[in-house]
Amino acid sequence: MFVGFRDRDLVRRAASEVAKRAGSRGFRIMHVCGTHEWSITHFGLREMLPANVKVVAGPGCPVCVTPGAEIDAVAELAARRKAVVTTFGDVLRVPGARSSLAEAKAAGGDVRVVYSVSDAVQMARAEPEKEFVHFSIGFETTAPMSAVELIKGPPKNFSIYSSHKLIPPAMEFLLGSGAGIDGFICPGHVSTIIGARAYEPIASKYGKPMVISGFEPLDVISGILNIVTQVVSGRAAVDNEYTRAVRAEGNEIAMGAISKVFEPCDSFWRGIGTIRGSGMRVRGTYREHDARARHGVEGGGDEGMPEGCGCGDVLLGRMEPEGCPLFGKACTPARPVGPCMVSSEGTCAIAFKYRKVR
Ligand code: SF4
Repeated sequence: MFVGFRDRDLVRRAASEVAKRAGSRGFRIMHVCGTHEWSITHFGLREMLPANVKVVAGPGCPVCVTPGAEIDAVAELAARRKAVVTTFGDVLRVPGARSSLAEAKAAGGDVRVVYSVSDAVQMARAEPEKEFVHFSIGFETTAPMSAVELIKGPPKNFSIYSSHKLIPPAMEFLLGSGAGIDGFICPGHVSTIIGARAYEPIASKYGKPMVISGFEPLDVISGILNIVTQVVSGRAAVDNEYTRAVRAEGNEIAMGAISKVFEPCDSFWRGIGTIRGSGMRVRGTYREHDARARHGVEGGGDEGMPEGCGCGDVLLGRMEPEGCPLFGKACTPARPVGPCMVSSEGTCAIAFKYRKVR
Protein backbone atom coordinates (compact mmCIF):
# COMPACT_ATOMS: atom_id res chain seq x y z
CA MET A 1 0.00 0.00 0.00
CA PHE A 2 1.22 3.50 -0.81
CA VAL A 3 0.53 5.41 2.41
CA GLY A 4 0.76 8.78 0.59
CA PHE A 5 -2.18 7.86 -1.61
CA ARG A 6 -4.36 7.68 1.51
CA ASP A 7 -3.03 10.85 3.10
CA ARG A 8 -6.14 12.52 4.48
CA ASP A 9 -4.77 16.07 4.21
CA LEU A 10 -3.67 15.61 0.61
CA VAL A 11 -7.07 14.17 -0.33
CA ARG A 12 -8.87 17.05 1.46
CA ARG A 13 -6.68 19.61 -0.30
CA ALA A 14 -7.41 18.02 -3.66
CA ALA A 15 -11.15 18.01 -2.86
CA SER A 16 -11.13 21.72 -1.96
CA GLU A 17 -9.25 22.40 -5.20
CA VAL A 18 -12.08 20.59 -7.01
CA ALA A 19 -14.57 22.94 -5.32
CA LYS A 20 -12.50 26.00 -6.21
CA ARG A 21 -12.11 25.08 -9.88
CA ALA A 22 -15.70 23.85 -10.33
CA GLY A 23 -17.12 27.14 -9.07
CA SER A 24 -20.91 27.08 -9.28
CA ARG A 25 -21.13 24.98 -12.45
CA GLY A 26 -22.78 21.57 -12.08
CA PHE A 27 -20.69 18.49 -12.93
CA ARG A 28 -21.74 14.91 -13.52
CA ILE A 29 -18.77 12.56 -13.67
CA MET A 30 -19.21 8.84 -14.26
CA HIS A 31 -16.96 5.89 -13.52
CA VAL A 32 -17.50 2.37 -14.85
CA CYS A 33 -15.66 0.22 -12.35
CA GLY A 34 -16.82 -1.67 -9.28
CA THR A 35 -13.48 -1.12 -7.55
CA HIS A 36 -13.75 2.64 -8.09
CA GLU A 37 -17.22 2.57 -6.56
CA TRP A 38 -15.83 0.63 -3.61
CA SER A 39 -13.05 3.15 -3.14
CA ILE A 40 -15.32 6.21 -3.49
CA THR A 41 -17.89 4.83 -1.04
CA HIS A 42 -15.50 3.17 1.40
CA PHE A 43 -13.35 6.30 1.79
CA GLY A 44 -16.32 8.70 1.78
CA LEU A 45 -14.98 10.67 -1.20
CA ARG A 46 -18.42 11.83 -2.36
CA GLU A 47 -18.96 13.53 0.99
CA MET A 48 -15.75 15.52 0.52
CA LEU A 49 -16.85 16.96 -2.81
CA PRO A 50 -18.99 20.07 -3.25
CA ALA A 51 -22.70 19.44 -3.87
CA ASN A 52 -22.43 20.59 -7.50
CA VAL A 53 -19.87 17.88 -8.38
CA LYS A 54 -21.65 14.55 -8.63
CA VAL A 55 -19.77 11.30 -9.17
CA VAL A 56 -22.06 8.51 -10.34
CA ALA A 57 -21.47 4.80 -10.87
CA GLY A 58 -22.11 3.38 -14.33
CA PRO A 59 -22.22 -0.24 -15.51
CA GLY A 60 -18.85 -1.27 -14.08
CA CYS A 61 -19.81 -4.51 -12.39
CA PRO A 62 -19.65 -7.39 -14.90
CA VAL A 63 -21.79 -9.71 -12.81
CA CYS A 64 -24.53 -7.05 -12.63
CA VAL A 65 -24.81 -6.62 -16.41
CA THR A 66 -24.77 -10.32 -17.31
CA PRO A 67 -28.20 -11.05 -18.83
CA GLY A 68 -30.58 -13.10 -16.73
CA ALA A 69 -31.41 -15.22 -19.78
CA GLU A 70 -27.74 -16.21 -20.11
CA ILE A 71 -27.65 -17.20 -16.43
CA ASP A 72 -30.79 -19.28 -17.05
CA ALA A 73 -29.25 -20.93 -20.12
CA VAL A 74 -26.16 -22.04 -18.23
CA ALA A 75 -28.11 -23.01 -15.09
CA GLU A 76 -30.27 -25.23 -17.27
CA LEU A 77 -27.23 -27.07 -18.60
CA ALA A 78 -26.33 -27.96 -15.01
CA ALA A 79 -29.90 -28.65 -13.84
CA ARG A 80 -30.51 -31.03 -16.78
CA ARG A 81 -27.20 -32.81 -16.07
CA LYS A 82 -25.87 -31.92 -19.52
CA ALA A 83 -22.66 -30.44 -18.17
CA VAL A 84 -20.67 -29.57 -15.10
CA VAL A 85 -20.79 -25.79 -14.91
CA THR A 86 -17.83 -23.89 -13.48
CA THR A 87 -17.85 -20.20 -12.68
CA PHE A 88 -16.64 -17.55 -10.25
CA GLY A 89 -18.22 -17.30 -6.79
CA ASP A 90 -19.99 -13.98 -7.37
CA VAL A 91 -22.07 -15.41 -10.20
CA LEU A 92 -23.54 -18.26 -8.20
CA ARG A 93 -26.25 -16.28 -6.40
CA VAL A 94 -27.15 -13.81 -9.15
CA PRO A 95 -30.82 -14.23 -9.97
CA GLY A 96 -31.46 -15.04 -13.61
CA ALA A 97 -34.81 -14.41 -15.25
CA ARG A 98 -36.17 -17.76 -14.04
CA SER A 99 -33.43 -19.42 -12.02
CA SER A 100 -29.87 -19.10 -10.77
CA LEU A 101 -26.80 -21.29 -10.65
CA ALA A 102 -27.31 -21.69 -6.89
CA GLU A 103 -30.79 -23.07 -7.55
CA ALA A 104 -29.46 -25.41 -10.23
CA LYS A 105 -26.90 -26.65 -7.73
CA ALA A 106 -29.55 -27.10 -5.04
CA ALA A 107 -31.56 -29.14 -7.57
CA GLY A 108 -28.64 -31.54 -7.90
CA GLY A 109 -26.78 -29.94 -10.81
CA ASP A 110 -22.99 -30.04 -10.70
CA VAL A 111 -22.01 -26.38 -10.33
CA ARG A 112 -18.49 -25.66 -9.13
CA VAL A 113 -16.88 -22.40 -8.07
CA VAL A 114 -13.37 -21.92 -9.44
CA TYR A 115 -10.74 -19.26 -8.88
CA SER A 116 -9.55 -19.30 -12.48
CA VAL A 117 -10.50 -20.77 -15.82
CA SER A 118 -7.38 -22.93 -15.72
CA ASP A 119 -8.81 -24.68 -12.61
CA ALA A 120 -11.87 -25.52 -14.72
CA VAL A 121 -9.68 -26.90 -17.52
CA GLN A 122 -7.81 -29.08 -15.04
CA MET A 123 -11.11 -30.47 -13.73
CA ALA A 124 -12.22 -31.28 -17.28
CA ARG A 125 -8.93 -33.06 -17.90
CA ALA A 126 -9.29 -35.10 -14.71
CA GLU A 127 -12.88 -36.15 -15.53
CA PRO A 128 -12.93 -36.84 -19.28
CA GLU A 129 -16.24 -38.71 -19.09
CA LYS A 130 -18.08 -35.46 -18.20
CA GLU A 131 -18.82 -32.33 -20.23
CA PHE A 132 -17.54 -29.10 -18.67
CA VAL A 133 -18.83 -25.62 -19.44
CA HIS A 134 -17.09 -22.61 -17.95
CA PHE A 135 -19.42 -19.60 -17.60
CA SER A 136 -16.94 -16.97 -18.64
CA ILE A 137 -17.97 -13.45 -17.68
CA GLY A 138 -16.17 -10.15 -17.23
CA PHE A 139 -14.63 -7.30 -19.16
CA GLU A 140 -11.27 -7.04 -20.91
CA THR A 141 -9.54 -7.98 -17.64
CA THR A 142 -10.83 -11.56 -17.43
CA ALA A 143 -11.29 -12.36 -21.13
CA PRO A 144 -7.54 -12.91 -21.76
CA MET A 145 -7.45 -15.81 -19.26
CA SER A 146 -10.23 -17.64 -21.12
CA ALA A 147 -8.62 -16.81 -24.45
CA VAL A 148 -5.24 -18.19 -23.39
CA GLU A 149 -6.80 -21.48 -22.25
CA LEU A 150 -8.47 -21.93 -25.64
CA ILE A 151 -5.23 -21.09 -27.46
CA LYS A 152 -3.32 -23.62 -25.32
CA GLY A 153 -5.76 -26.34 -26.37
CA PRO A 154 -8.12 -27.55 -23.63
CA PRO A 155 -9.48 -31.13 -23.57
CA LYS A 156 -12.33 -32.02 -25.95
CA ASN A 157 -14.90 -32.07 -23.11
CA PHE A 158 -14.30 -28.41 -22.22
CA SER A 159 -16.04 -25.35 -23.61
CA ILE A 160 -16.71 -21.80 -22.50
CA TYR A 161 -19.97 -19.90 -22.52
CA SER A 162 -18.71 -16.42 -23.26
CA SER A 163 -20.60 -13.56 -21.68
CA HIS A 164 -17.57 -11.27 -21.90
CA LYS A 165 -18.12 -7.61 -22.63
CA LEU A 166 -16.08 -4.66 -23.85
CA ILE A 167 -16.10 -1.43 -21.88
CA PRO A 168 -15.36 1.28 -24.51
CA PRO A 169 -18.56 0.59 -26.56
CA ALA A 170 -20.58 0.94 -23.34
CA MET A 171 -18.93 4.29 -22.56
CA GLU A 172 -19.68 5.45 -26.08
CA PHE A 173 -23.27 4.25 -25.74
CA LEU A 174 -23.67 6.25 -22.51
CA LEU A 175 -22.22 9.41 -24.04
CA GLY A 176 -24.41 9.01 -27.12
CA SER A 177 -27.56 8.41 -25.09
CA GLY A 178 -27.65 11.93 -23.67
CA ALA A 179 -26.92 10.83 -20.12
CA GLY A 180 -25.44 14.27 -19.37
CA ILE A 181 -21.96 13.05 -18.50
CA ASP A 182 -19.21 15.68 -18.30
CA GLY A 183 -16.37 13.18 -18.23
CA PHE A 184 -15.38 9.63 -17.42
CA ILE A 185 -13.07 8.22 -14.80
CA CYS A 186 -11.80 5.32 -16.91
CA PRO A 187 -11.49 1.91 -15.24
CA GLY A 188 -8.00 1.19 -13.94
CA HIS A 189 -7.95 -2.58 -14.40
CA VAL A 190 -9.48 -2.59 -17.87
CA SER A 191 -7.09 0.18 -18.90
CA THR A 192 -4.05 -1.95 -18.00
CA ILE A 193 -5.21 -4.29 -20.78
CA ILE A 194 -6.60 -1.96 -23.45
CA GLY A 195 -4.26 1.00 -22.81
CA ALA A 196 -4.92 4.73 -22.65
CA ARG A 197 -5.04 5.12 -26.43
CA ALA A 198 -8.20 3.04 -26.66
CA TYR A 199 -10.22 5.98 -25.30
CA GLU A 200 -8.90 8.62 -27.69
CA PRO A 201 -11.51 8.13 -30.46
CA ILE A 202 -14.32 8.44 -27.89
CA ALA A 203 -12.88 11.54 -26.19
CA SER A 204 -12.46 13.34 -29.50
CA LYS A 205 -15.82 12.21 -30.98
CA TYR A 206 -17.84 13.35 -27.96
CA GLY A 207 -15.57 16.13 -26.72
CA LYS A 208 -15.44 14.72 -23.19
CA PRO A 209 -12.42 14.27 -20.92
CA MET A 210 -11.53 10.69 -20.06
CA VAL A 211 -9.11 10.23 -17.19
CA ILE A 212 -7.57 6.91 -16.21
CA SER A 213 -7.32 6.65 -12.48
CA GLY A 214 -6.00 4.18 -9.90
CA PHE A 215 -7.96 3.08 -6.87
CA GLU A 216 -6.46 4.84 -3.87
CA PRO A 217 -8.37 7.90 -2.56
CA LEU A 218 -5.78 10.33 -3.90
CA ASP A 219 -5.87 8.59 -7.30
CA VAL A 220 -9.62 8.98 -7.57
CA ILE A 221 -9.83 12.55 -6.32
CA SER A 222 -6.98 13.52 -8.68
CA GLY A 223 -8.96 12.01 -11.54
CA ILE A 224 -11.99 14.09 -10.56
CA LEU A 225 -9.85 17.22 -10.29
CA ASN A 226 -8.38 16.51 -13.73
CA ILE A 227 -11.84 16.19 -15.32
CA VAL A 228 -13.15 19.37 -13.67
CA THR A 229 -10.01 21.25 -14.73
CA GLN A 230 -10.32 20.00 -18.31
CA VAL A 231 -13.99 20.98 -18.56
CA VAL A 232 -13.50 24.51 -17.21
CA SER A 233 -10.53 25.05 -19.52
CA GLY A 234 -12.34 23.66 -22.58
CA ARG A 235 -10.14 20.57 -22.95
CA ALA A 236 -11.38 17.06 -23.72
CA ALA A 237 -8.36 14.79 -23.63
CA VAL A 238 -7.46 11.32 -22.44
CA ASP A 239 -5.18 11.74 -19.44
CA ASN A 240 -3.46 8.84 -17.78
CA GLU A 241 -3.20 9.47 -14.03
CA TYR A 242 -2.39 5.81 -13.39
CA THR A 243 0.96 5.58 -15.13
CA ARG A 244 2.30 3.20 -12.48
CA ALA A 245 0.10 0.48 -14.03
CA VAL A 246 -1.31 1.67 -17.38
CA ARG A 247 0.63 2.21 -20.60
CA ALA A 248 -0.59 4.03 -23.68
CA GLU A 249 -0.54 0.81 -25.70
CA GLY A 250 -1.88 -1.44 -22.93
CA ASN A 251 -0.98 -5.10 -22.69
CA GLU A 252 -0.41 -6.18 -26.26
CA ILE A 253 -0.06 -9.88 -25.40
CA ALA A 254 -3.43 -9.93 -23.62
CA MET A 255 -5.10 -7.95 -26.40
CA GLY A 256 -3.58 -10.31 -28.98
CA ALA A 257 -5.05 -13.32 -27.15
CA ILE A 258 -8.47 -11.65 -26.99
CA SER A 259 -8.57 -10.86 -30.69
CA LYS A 260 -7.31 -14.33 -31.64
CA VAL A 261 -10.11 -16.10 -29.79
CA PHE A 262 -12.98 -13.59 -29.71
CA GLU A 263 -14.69 -11.38 -32.26
CA PRO A 264 -16.85 -8.39 -31.35
CA CYS A 265 -20.62 -8.83 -31.47
CA ASP A 266 -23.69 -6.95 -30.29
CA SER A 267 -24.39 -7.73 -26.68
CA PHE A 268 -27.25 -7.29 -24.24
CA TRP A 269 -26.39 -5.53 -20.97
CA ARG A 270 -28.83 -6.35 -18.20
CA GLY A 271 -30.95 -3.37 -17.24
CA ILE A 272 -29.55 -1.31 -20.12
CA GLY A 273 -30.22 -2.99 -23.45
CA THR A 274 -28.24 -4.07 -26.48
CA ILE A 275 -24.99 -2.22 -27.10
CA ARG A 276 -23.48 -2.57 -30.56
CA GLY A 277 -20.11 -4.25 -30.76
CA SER A 278 -19.81 -4.64 -26.99
CA GLY A 279 -19.73 -8.43 -26.75
CA MET A 280 -17.01 -11.02 -27.28
CA ARG A 281 -18.13 -14.06 -29.28
CA VAL A 282 -15.87 -17.10 -29.66
CA ARG A 283 -14.48 -17.18 -33.19
CA GLY A 284 -15.36 -20.05 -35.53
CA THR A 285 -11.81 -21.40 -35.28
CA TYR A 286 -12.56 -22.36 -31.67
CA ARG A 287 -16.14 -23.51 -32.29
CA GLU A 288 -15.45 -26.90 -30.72
CA HIS A 289 -14.90 -25.10 -27.41
CA ASP A 290 -17.78 -22.64 -27.76
CA ALA A 291 -20.56 -23.84 -25.41
CA ARG A 292 -23.20 -21.85 -27.31
CA ALA A 293 -22.53 -23.85 -30.47
CA ARG A 294 -21.59 -27.11 -28.80
CA HIS A 295 -24.67 -27.33 -26.59
CA GLY A 296 -27.09 -25.30 -28.71
CA VAL A 297 -27.70 -22.73 -25.96
CA GLU A 298 -27.89 -19.02 -26.60
CA GLY A 299 -29.56 -16.84 -23.97
CA GLY A 300 -29.48 -13.06 -24.10
CA GLY A 301 -32.13 -10.58 -25.05
CA ASP A 302 -34.35 -8.47 -22.86
CA GLU A 303 -35.66 -10.69 -20.09
CA GLY A 304 -36.70 -7.79 -17.86
CA MET A 305 -35.71 -7.24 -14.27
CA PRO A 306 -37.22 -8.63 -11.07
CA GLU A 307 -40.39 -6.77 -10.13
CA GLY A 308 -39.72 -3.46 -8.41
CA CYS A 309 -35.96 -3.71 -8.99
CA GLY A 310 -34.28 -0.44 -9.98
CA CYS A 311 -30.97 -1.96 -11.11
CA GLY A 312 -31.42 -0.56 -14.64
CA ASP A 313 -31.47 3.00 -13.30
CA VAL A 314 -28.65 2.27 -10.85
CA LEU A 315 -26.47 0.87 -13.66
CA LEU A 316 -27.07 3.96 -15.77
CA GLY A 317 -26.22 6.29 -12.88
CA ARG A 318 -29.77 7.67 -12.86
CA MET A 319 -30.60 6.48 -9.36
CA GLU A 320 -28.69 5.97 -6.13
CA PRO A 321 -29.25 2.55 -4.53
CA GLU A 322 -31.15 4.22 -1.69
CA GLY A 323 -33.67 5.44 -4.28
CA CYS A 324 -34.84 1.87 -4.90
CA PRO A 325 -37.82 1.06 -2.65
CA LEU A 326 -36.45 -2.46 -2.11
CA PHE A 327 -33.01 -1.31 -0.91
CA GLY A 328 -32.20 -2.64 2.55
CA LYS A 329 -35.74 -3.98 2.95
CA ALA A 330 -36.76 -6.70 0.50
CA CYS A 331 -33.29 -6.58 -1.08
CA THR A 332 -30.17 -7.16 1.02
CA PRO A 333 -26.88 -8.99 0.36
CA ALA A 334 -28.31 -11.98 2.29
CA ARG A 335 -31.45 -12.01 0.11
CA PRO A 336 -30.67 -10.12 -3.09
CA VAL A 337 -33.50 -9.26 -5.47
CA GLY A 338 -31.45 -7.58 -8.17
CA PRO A 339 -27.95 -8.31 -9.49
CA CYS A 340 -26.44 -5.07 -8.10
CA MET A 341 -26.88 -6.42 -4.55
CA VAL A 342 -24.96 -9.65 -5.15
CA SER A 343 -21.41 -8.99 -6.23
CA SER A 344 -18.89 -7.21 -4.02
CA GLU A 345 -18.54 -4.86 -7.02
CA GLY A 346 -22.27 -4.15 -7.20
CA THR A 347 -23.25 -0.55 -6.44
CA CYS A 348 -26.13 -1.59 -4.15
CA ALA A 349 -24.03 -4.14 -2.24
CA ILE A 350 -21.31 -1.52 -1.69
CA ALA A 351 -23.83 1.11 -0.57
CA PHE A 352 -25.47 -1.38 1.82
CA LYS A 353 -22.15 -2.33 3.38
CA TYR A 354 -20.55 1.09 3.75
CA ARG A 355 -23.32 3.61 4.00
CA LYS A 356 -24.74 1.78 7.00
CA VAL A 357 -28.33 1.99 5.74
CA ARG A 358 -30.29 -0.75 7.40
S1 SF4 B 1 -31.70 -2.47 -4.05
FE1 SF4 B 1 -31.84 -4.49 -5.01
S2 SF4 B 1 -33.62 -4.44 -6.30
FE2 SF4 B 1 -33.08 -2.31 -5.81
S3 SF4 B 1 -31.76 -1.64 -7.46
FE3 SF4 B 1 -30.43 -2.45 -5.91
S4 SF4 B 1 -30.14 -4.61 -6.43
FE4 SF4 B 1 -31.89 -3.87 -7.65
